[in-house]
Amino acid sequence: MDSRLYRHIFPGSVINIQRSSGEGGIDFDDVLTVNPELTEELPAVDVKENLPLQENVIVQKQKCRTSLSKIPAPREAVRGRSRMTVISESQCCLQENEMEVDPRTSTQTRSNLSVPAGRTRASRLICAPEALLTNGNASTEDHLPAAGTTASVSPVRRRTNLVREMEKMKNKREEKRAQMNEIRTKHAQEFDSSCPNWEFARMIKEFRATLDCRPISIADPIEEHRICVCVRKRPLNKQELLKKECDVITVPSKCVLLVHEPKHKVDLTKYLETQAFRFDFSFDESSSNEMVYRFTARPLVETIFEGGKATCFAYGQTGSGKTHTMGGDFSGRVQNASKGIYAFASQDVFLLLNQPRYKSQNLEVYVTFFEIYNGKVFDLLNKKAKLRVLEDGKQQVQVVGLQEKQVHCAEDVFKMIEMGSASRTSGQTFANASSSRSHACFQIILRRRGKLIGKFSLVDLAGNERGADTCSADRQTRMEGAEINKSLLALKECIRALGQNKSHTPFRESKLTQVLRDSFIGTNSRTCMIAMISPGMSSCEYTLNTLRYADRVKELSPHNGGGEAQNQMETENEETLTIGEGSGHNVCLPKDEEEDISPHMSNFCEAMTQISEREEKVVEQLRELRQRMQTEFDYLLRITEQPDYDLETFVSRAKYFIEESSRNFLSVRETLDALRAAMQLEEQASKQMSQQRR
Ligand code: ADP
Ligand code: MG
Repeated sequence: MDSRLYRHIFPGSVINIQRSSGEGGIDFDDVLTVNPELTEELPAVDVKENLPLQENVIVQKQKCRTSLSKIPAPREAVRGRSRMTVISESQCCLQENEMEVDPRTSTQTRSNLSVPAGRTRASRLICAPEALLTNGNASTEDHLPAAGTTASVSPVRRRTNLVREMEKMKNKREEKRAQMNEIRTKHAQEFDSSCPNWEFARMIKEFRATLDCRPISIADPIEEHRICVCVRKRPLNKQELLKKECDVITVPSKCVLLVHEPKHKVDLTKYLETQAFRFDFSFDESSSNEMVYRFTARPLVETIFEGGKATCFAYGQTGSGKTHTMGGDFSGRVQNASKGIYAFASQDVFLLLNQPRYKSQNLEVYVTFFEIYNGKVFDLLNKKAKLRVLEDGKQQVQVVGLQEKQVHCAEDVFKMIEMGSASRTSGQTFANASSSRSHACFQIILRRRGKLIGKFSLVDLAGNERGADTCSADRQTRMEGAEINKSLLALKECIRALGQNKSHTPFRESKLTQVLRDSFIGTNSRTCMIAMISPGMSSCEYTLNTLRYADRVKELSPHNGGGEAQNQMETENEETLTIGEGSGHNVCLPKDEEEDISPHMSNFCEAMTQISEREEKVVEQLRELRQRMQTEFDYLLRITEQPDYDLETFVSRAKYFIEESSRNFLSVRETLDALRAAMQLEEQASKQMSQQRR
């Protein structure tokens, strides 16, 4: 089994319960006889199995799970996943079955993300942090009367003793309750209780305190991958800080990222479900653009000097940091173009170009910058001119008229980036930013005497949450959403095909992949995907979607196996398919994302494809018609201006032209009808999908 899982040992207390009966203990039946009111406190609970001792603390007999493999593992888990889930609950349940692990040992083990092999017994210790902090090593024996012989004591005396003991228990219980309240108040003060989710924040803080975080550093080796998938967490921004958003992402090491998903049980108890993801690299909020570049795009630069193709994608939700990473940060409307990956890659291209081994090769550098919006291509270096994408018989895709600007130094490139970025964002309000609904592609092209040598495409993808716009009431938004969905899925498939060296690349599925087709084929093609995530709790769902997508890209990559760290994860996985004693974290396998498409969705996608195909066809037909008519009209009218033109020829030609035009008009009309039919189909499918969702 090659899933990679960790195990954490949560700081927990082990409380041994000895339920006395007969000799050496107090008979509970006696206790109940003397205190009939006690039975009222335990209405529906099986007294033999679950004995509430105090608020939030339940002695619970729990079946000992010997192996987590009893949890039905999703298919994927068996194949190998780079994810795992840990649940930390805020309810405190004490195990009746004794723990084999001393909590102090647990804490030590916990600080190391790996787990020693050999433990197979599993049981759960689920602890409320409050309870953990109070009386950590308490034994329930404290709550129970001291053992004694009962045979020689008179019934009256025995009752008096019991009453006294019960009083003591009651007092203790009240004392504990007061202590808990005090701690809760203290925590609330410490944790700024005005923060709406301070309890989750505290649980996360406590979780982090158990980790020995070692984020990626400049000293880490830069590994070469044909497909590299990374994740970058941005810091909380001003608005999020103002709203006192809770940061739910932890990056414990250079490859791992944890998402602490806040959850509520049916009884409203709060708990965290922590999912771990593993990638080639993970960057925390302190990582700079330079650092991210160093491990992601930089290793790909040389590929284009060797006659290859490279692609680098920034994927994620709107506002997660894609443009910041790729294009450089904005201060207001002005972009600091020299501090993004586009610029760093260009700088390195010039650096390499000036090295002796390439200097003599007469290489020229060009850049292009375009935007793909709703399946249409616009040139960002030429006033957003709409461009046509044509495919010749040899499946060579051409973006007709795309301006390639020659650049001679990095500063030239910065200017181009600024110009293109300004063009991309001009005329849009933040609320209606088309940049979140379009893919921006910046390319660095190497040529020798006009001949293409290599190409590096750096893509700032549309916000992945836009893919969900397919349910919008507005067709335009729905179409944009569908196009984004399609292109992101196609992109994943193309990277997968690249990873598996497949001869067939499903590039035709979307304009994005069609335009980038030549980068996905050939033996010397490399790609990198940076999944960007927002750290806030309110983004948690989108963050998980982003990570699942990136995880699948990675999982499909041949690189998936191998490497020292990888092996360690595999060992851990075998081990952590069992739950560690006293871990306080229930490790379960991640839910697999639904990939099944409903019939309505399938109709919707089909309709969308038809719409874009027919729309393109009709535009092409009109364009041709206009061209043909213009030429022919000009010709015919020119003839008539000659004094001795041949009337016979003129009449036949004009007649032929009119008949031909009628046929052409009819053909356009047919396409328009087909387009309308596809639009109706889309509308229907979209309505059915919305009904299904309700
Ligand atoms: P996206 O392109 O994914 O929609 P942006 O790159 O525009 O997101 O980032 C959204 C906001 O967050 C911007 O104000 C940006 O400056 C800020 N931001 C993003 N990433 C970082 C980071 N790593 N450090 C600091 N600020 C960041
Ligand atoms: Mg952006």
